Amino acid sequence: MGTGLLRQWLPRSSRRLHTAGVKARQRRGDIWVPQCISNNAAQPDNSTVHLINAGFVYQPNAGVFHFLPLGLRVLEKIERLVDRHMRSVGASKAALSSLSRQSLWQKSGRLSAGGELFRLRDRSRVDWLLAPTHEEEFTEMVRHGGTLRTSTQLRLYQIGRKYRDELRPRGGLLRGKEFIMKDLYTFDRTPEAALATYDEIRAAYRNFFDELGLPYAEARADSGTMGGSLSHEYHFPDDQGEDTVIVCSNCEHARNVEFVPTLARSITKLPNKRAQALADAASSTTVSRDFISEDRSTLVRVLVSKNGKSDTEAKSSVNTHVVKAALFGHAEVDTGIQEEAARKIFLSNPSLSQEGEKDGIGRRRRIIYLLDKSVDFEHFLAGFEPDESVGEVEAWAMHSSPDRESGASPIDLLIPSKGDVCPSCKTGVLSVQNSIEIGHTFHLGTRYSSKFNLVYLAEQSKLPTLYQMGCHGIGVSRLVAAAARLRAPTGKEKSWSLQWPKVIAPYHVTVIGSTESPDQIQASHEMYDALESTQTKHFIEYPVKYHVKYHVKYHVKYRVKYRVKYHVDHPIEHYRYIERYQFDVHSSHIFDICIRFDHTVVTDDAAVEMINSLYASIREVVEAYEALPLPVFKADFFRYLILLARGGIYSDIDTRALKSALKWLPSGYDRSTVGLVAGIEADPDRPDWAEWYARRVQLCQWTIQAKVGHPVLVDVVAAITEETLDMKKKNMLTKGEEPQKSVMEFTGPGIWTDAVFNYFNNPDYFDVRSRTSNVSYSDFFSITQPKQMGDVVILPITSFSPGVGHMGSKATSNPMAFVKHAFKGSWKSHG
Ligand SMILES: [Zn+2]
Repeated sequence: MGTGLLRQWLPRSSRRLHTAGVKARQRRGDIWVPQCISNNAAQPDNSTVHLINAGFVYQPNAGVFHFLPLGLRVLEKIERLVDRHMRSVGASKAALSSLSRQSLWQKSGRLSAGGELFRLRDRSRVDWLLAPTHEEEFTEMVRHGGTLRTSTQLRLYQIGRKYRDELRPRGGLLRGKEFIMKDLYTFDRTPEAALATYDEIRAAYRNFFDELGLPYAEARADSGTMGGSLSHEYHFPDDQGEDTVIVCSNCEHARNVEFVPTLARSITKLPNKRAQALADAASSTTVSRDFISEDRSTLVRVLVSKNGKSDTEAKSSVNTHVVKAALFGHAEVDTGIQEEAARKIFLSNPSLSQEGEKDGIGRRRRIIYLLDKSVDFEHFLAGFEPDESVGEVEAWAMHSSPDRESGASPIDLLIPSKGDVCPSCKTGVLSVQNSIEIGHTFHLGTRYSSKFNLVYLAEQSKLPTLYQMGCHGIGVSRLVAAAARLRAPTGKEKSWSLQWPKVIAPYHVTVIGSTESPDQIQASHEMYDALESTQTKHFIEYPVKYHVKYHVKYHVKYRVKYRVKYHVDHPIEHYRYIERYQFDVHSSHIFDICIRFDHTVVTDDAAVEMINSLYASIREVVEAYEALPLPVFKADFFRYLILLARGGIYSDIDTRALKSALKWLPSGYDRSTVGLVAGIEADPDRPDWAEWYARRVQLCQWTIQAKVGHPVLVDVVAAITEETLDMKKKNMLTKGEEPQKSVMEFTGPGIWTDAVFNYFNNPDYFDVRSRTSNVSYSDFFSITQPKQMGDVVILPITSFSPGVGHMGSKATSNPMAFVKHAFKGSWKSHG
């Protein structure tokens, strides 16, 4: 290569610099959020409908979904979270094809069983399927890959699309024809090592769900068609969920209702009289329910105690999963056949099989009495009376074995109900919760390695020995829907909101900047870049460290009543304004309100939604907020609520920053000691002050800076909530009308000033023993410098009320002037 050519190929410095300098800032307007309306809108509580309406996903066909930019971001964040927890257990990531040859599935024996397999045939007449899971492919691949040469274990996972020929797709993303799964496959040499792996993966799953921050249960589960003996499921509670999880209030006992523990069971042949038959074995205290076997040769008569229930109730409380498990090895019970039909089929089939006895029981027509643990076997035997009206049958009884192997349980045929005593610890009570299954772990043993001959040579004997496998799934696309659902507020017909767990929220912060001047655009870009380069934890750990450099204003075309602004001059610190604002309605899809790191999608009444979500667990607050009769009260209340919940700086829309909030306190001031900053609004040194002001020294509340959860805010929010609910109860509040109490006293500067002074005199927070008198207004008369008491800093009147021309207020050019308030009363203009 000649030097001329080389020169062309080498990166030119200018180009490199240029590309390194490109800022790929994500703009709100660049994110495609289509306004789709789900044709399924009749079900307002279906989270997939919310996701469609909010432009997160698009549904082209039943059971098929496209992820749109917002939804994809959530999906990708879940994937990243999964990746991290999979790395923590040393799993390596792969991506297998969705196309799998049917012959491979023939080998594992799952082809015939898979009625939900998506099958297809290519032009060469090769039969394929779209894989719903990848045990076969992974096992075969690992075998071909020369198995494990250097280490004794292997962990492989992927996150990809899977398919299921769902006849009637339902529940939106919860059960579609295509879904996105994480599936991990583990390979170990010994059962002990495989079980250790299994426990390790379970721990990783718990870490994953803990980090997600949503409530979940880890429950023992049935292995189903996967084979193997040990499995756990991970569930989100959901009243509409298709699964049922039973959880103890006291111990770790948690299981899917479908999970049946190992049963301690015995089967006994009953006295061989000539015409033993369909005796009515039920007595006044027991009730029976009949099932029939798949081959129609066996009638299974289940006996349970009534326990004061009606016959119908007692019958419907029979747990069919336990019935199947108890008869396992003796009869395959067809639980799909109703009781009457089962009996009819059995009676209409009098021919006696001539096959004779097999496996101890035989294939003849027979009846098996299945006794619940509450039905005493000896007692049953004593009262047993065969019915001679039907032909000859064998009669057997299946009952709980008195000598129990360790870990086995007596036959409990009843579906557990809420409040039952926990069978494990005997002290806790059970709760029964509908749920959505999100994850599943299986110990597979040699279920697949035996089919695909995945072996290693044992060290001692040098004999080929089968690998022990495990497989572990997480429903990624299903998690998107379930998470949206868990956090979605309920009860409001037309209103919806999506509140994502922080770790998977599509965006954490929206910088709303001004386009009024190049400086302001530049300022918002710098803020964006600073936020992007900042470790998120700084924002969480130091919510009230504030540097103000830029005052950024912006008018967005969306109506947002309260807007949030961030002021940043250094990556690790930030500052926030929260303002009341009104925009025109152009869209019902608004997501520009992002308070700190929870991304909130809000409708036109942003404030109500925010209060609703921030105070979801304290309904009184929401109720009080909604009961306030005038916008001015709501505006007042809102600032205390948002500061209490989120911290930062609140400032009215008609205020202007004269100085960085950094400079509110002198340089060198120990900011870590400050939890609240308030300014004096009025300091009227005149005998008739009470005619003009609520308090002798009155604190303003158009600009307040506070830490999350500051006691003064707790006090003021509690006071307003109590007062409002009390007035509501007494019918003293009418929408749009001024109540008897004035704004000043009700929610305004009066109550705010009182709350601050109450705090100063609260022995819970201050050592008041050395004081000779209460802290009072006189402690703050005519101050000209910030005065700190405890963690509260009171700023002089000039700071937030400069240039008002009285009470010692100095000009806006004064070094102590920080915020200019225009007194426009923007809250008056609208509701
Ligand atoms: Zn328990």
